[in-house]
Amino acid sequence: MRDFYQKPCFNYKFIMFLFKKVADLQQYLNTKRKEGNVIGFVPTMGALHEGHLSLIRASKSQSDLTVCSIFVNPTQFNDTSDLEKYPRTIGADIDLLSSADNDILFWPLDTEVYPPGLDTNLELDFGDLATVMEGYFRPGHFDGMAQVVWRLLQIVEPHKLFMGQKDFQQLTIVRNMLQQMQSEIELIMCPIVREDNGLAMSSRNRRLSVEDRSQSTIIYQVLNEAKEKMKQEKPGEISQWAMKKISDCGYKPEYFKIVNGITLQAIDQFKDADLVVACTAVWVGEVRLIDNMILKNQK
Ligand code: AMP
Repeated sequence: MRDFYQKPCFNYKFIMFLFKKVADLQQYLNTKRKEGNVIGFVPTMGALHEGHLSLIRASKSQSDLTVCSIFVNPTQFNDTSDLEKYPRTIGADIDLLSSADNDILFWPLDTEVYPPGLDTNLELDFGDLATVMEGYFRPGHFDGMAQVVWRLLQIVEPHKLFMGQKDFQQLTIVRNMLQQMQSEIELIMCPIVREDNGLAMSSRNRRLSVEDRSQSTIIYQVLNEAKEKMKQEKPGEISQWAMKKISDCGYKPEYFKIVNGITLQAIDQFKDADLVVACTAVWVGEVRLIDNMILKNQK
């Protein structure tokens, strides 16, 4: 059976289709694909904000049909309380997606994504890409992330995949996965959308206190200062300075790494890589935030 959602408000010109079943979604998309439509895909875990909507808009401008998925993937959470606390706001998400004229929402149950008897494990080795930074502090996270992204890609079979620079390491690993799987899906990186004060938008921000929401802008300030400092200082020195500056504000940085944007390994000198990215993860109270900034891009 196919569900669809129509906002009971005549301001919306668009009808967004909501699919919960893999088979129904595939049947619909197969028809659209045969008609020659280019399908863009935006996988999310919901609790949507402007950052997610920027991906929807990018997809709408570069595809004929945009599919957004909302699925809080249990296999990528190494901490069960983090999974339980993850915000779930499907009503507001549907409103936001409708307001952005998203075409299709795929909102499956766990049993649709991981049906009993289907082996969805991926035997891929991401090497050192997955052992540093997020991979070091969240063991198993990227195996779970790759597992769900590959499964969703097999379901949706999009031509284009839109992901945010906000999760730079995730995007790098997905790019590597597409290469290893010899996939022809085009991966498009969308820039980080920030609050007015510079804080990177995140579903987790809604768990911050009002005070922390304003003070955690220090993360963005430090990233900007790191970019200034690269003219005089070495990456290692800047990383040390950044860790101290964030700690001095009362927050707990897990890492602040300046890495080669292709290999994700820390660099000794800025001349060692054409693409250089500063990546950080910071505990703001009980909320773990990640952010990054491209410091150098000489492609
Ligand atoms: P999530 O729902 O957190 O798994 O994110 C889904 C997608 O939205 C991922 O590709 C993220 O990188 C992207 N995203 C999350 N936050 C932002 C942001 N502030 N700006 C741009 N993209 C974002």
